[in-house]
Amino acid sequence: MPEGDPGILCFQHCDIQHKVFCLELPDFCPKCDIPLTSVQLKIPPFQVPFPFTCARKAPNSVIIRPTDGDFLHFYQNAADLHIGITDSKGDVYEFDKFGLHIRAKNWTWSQCLSIPIVSESSSMWREYWDYTLIIVSQMSNWQAEKYKEDSNNCYSFVLTFLRMLQVKELKPSLTSKTQFCKDFIVPRTKNAAKYIALYRQVIKDGVTVISCA
Ligand SMILES: [Zn+2]
Repeated sequence: MPEGDPGILCFQHCDIQHKVFCLELPDFCPKCDIPLTSVQLKIPPFQVPFPFTCARKAPNSVIIRPTDGDFLHFYQNAADLHIGITDSKGDVYEFDKFGLHIRAKNWTWSQCLSIPIVSESSSMWREYWDYTLIIVSQMSNWQAEKYKEDSNNCYSFVLTFLRMLQVKELKPSLTSKTQFCKDFIVPRTKNAAKYIALYRQVIKDGVTVISCA
């Protein structure tokens, strides 16, 4: 199980209009009160895929996490996200008000969303990615005193890097932070938000029945 994965289970018993979510299988079906036996299950229990990963398992990626705390417990909306980049070893490069950091191992990135940017994954590509990352990191823009919350922030670092990669297909998405978020961030956070809402409901209610009609 990936780090932080609560292991939410899903099954359908007697009623295909409803899905049951839980952390531990109940003894009785919450819809019909009949003892659960796998024979009667319309869909046998499976684990709902955990959308988050650890930075170390997402090399050569753009990664995001809430500015404070983790996704499952602290995420509110996409407005308050921090963004960084991993190299081929999964080390995180990130820019904040304290300047640019390169973190080899850091618990703050143990539950993040990785954003697939390009499908290319050859060793030459990974070398090129790492090389470009080093070049961008050496720019003077990332000193702590140059940080500006609105105009020179974590997104500025990531967009500068992605522009420097010179990937033709990416170009239309790199015109602004807004465009980049629309094309790459929002689709991923939408999916994650569904999982987070489900997690919070299962924690609150225990066995949760959700209509799929
Ligand atoms: Zn039932």
